Amino acid sequence: MLDAYFFRRWMTATASAVDREAGRLTELDSAIGDADHGSNLRRGFAAVTAALDEAGPSAPGDVLALAGRTLISTVGGASGPLYGTLLRRTAKALGPEPGVSADQLRRALVEGVEAVGRLGGARPGDQTMIDALVPAVAALEESFAAAAGAALAGAEGTVPMRARKGRASYLGERSVGHQDPGAASAALLMAALAETAAATVGGVR
Ligand code: ADP
Ligand code: MG
Repeated sequence: MLDAYFFRRWMTATASAVDREAGRLTELDSAIGDADHGSNLRRGFAAVTAALDEAGPSAPGDVLALAGRTLISTVGGASGPLYGTLLRRTAKALGPEPGVSADQLRRALVEGVEAVGRLGGARPGDQTMIDALVPAVAALEESFAAAAGAALAGAEGTVPMRARKGRASYLGERSVGHQDPGAASAALLMAALAETAAATVGGVR
């Protein structure tokens, strides 16, 4: 069973990764956006960590719902509502129970990613975070580690794409040849999940 502590560790591991990689995320965003993705997410996930410390939610769904709300209220860019929706929709699917299975989390994440697609209207191939998230949830069937690998490959796969959604789409052909910053950060979120699962006593496949 995955408890609230597991989900808090996932969020704090994501916050650490975003903090460590903020420079790279902003660099990617400076090529095809407005150079704020790293600072946006750093601010957002620092606020998530603080909110979780303060509220101490005791159910997995409550952890992700609070994290999602916090991202929506603290991240200025498009990525705030998108990641906020991902976490809030996943939280809703997890429900109020104090513990959930790895399978419940997998199914909930599928719903979360579908909600991101509905909100932003992006489809695979549009050079967005969807290009990391969709293959990641498909690979969740296999393992959390496979999902992290698929997200990373998906992010790298955005390089030859042309952006059709978000700020980068204004560049048209000039977005080709650059990795999407949101796909890169989605890979960090999935890597943090795999890391948290690997560090869980008893192991989570
Ligand atoms: P902004 O573009 O407002 O500056 P950020 O820089 O924080 O916001 O986030 C940009 C990222 O958000 C993009 O790299 C992309 O992955 C994601 N994104 C933007 N618009 C969409 C959309 N409509 N659907 C899915 N993802 C999107
Ligand atoms: Mg930006």
